Amino acid sequence: MENERLLVIFPHPDDEAFSSAGTIMQHAETKGPVTYVCLTLGEMGRNMGRPIFTNREELPHIRKQEMIEAAKRMMIEDLQLWGLRDKTVEFEDEALLAGRFRDLIRELRPSRVISFYPGYAVHPDHEATARAVVRSLRSIDAEERPEFLAVAFANNTRDDLGPAHVVNDVSAYTDRKIAALEAHASQTGGLLKAIEEDPHLRDLLVNERYYHYPL
Ligand SMILES: [Zn+2]
Repeated sequence: MENERLLVIFPHPDDEAFSSAGTIMQHAETKGPVTYVCLTLGEMGRNMGRPIFTNREELPHIRKQEMIEAAKRMMIEDLQLWGLRDKTVEFEDEALLAGRFRDLIRELRPSRVISFYPGYAVHPDHEATARAVVRSLRSIDAEERPEFLAVAFANNTRDDLGPAHVVNDVSAYTDRKIAALEAHASQTGGLLKAIEEDPHLRDLLVNERYYHYPL
């Protein structure tokens, strides 16, 4: 096996599973170790399980345990929970956060980085994460810069950006992607029903799409 590392950076537990579980597992099986930097514990999430099984006080603890279990299912070797406050990533100092990402990239030397695409990431925490990731990558010399695969899912993505640059067929991982999503139980209760009803979600279980963001 080649020894290439994949670095995944998202703000919330479950962002990684919805967007990239198949790609993560494929990388872990065929290319090398995976690091997931999850910036918050998603403690301000609106879902408390369906049926409800937790509350606002317990949620950070529950989501942390769910994240650890999901990481195991996705064969993520290195799970880093940075413990920023949920829903406040947009108020973090962008230069500081980008500096932390740059230091980590220098340390781990990943061949690929996965995060959100600025402007097409929908949620303020997602956008702030995407901007800091781009800033960190721009601060690294082009020869040393890892490939950046950006997740875009705003409604206007296809109209503005065209078809995805990388379409990863993850149909061999569909069952295990569902299992990874189910590990985030407080957020994904009723998932199987949602899959039946939502063609976008169904597609996400077989194809993971990425754009190359111009750096
Ligand atoms: Zn999120």
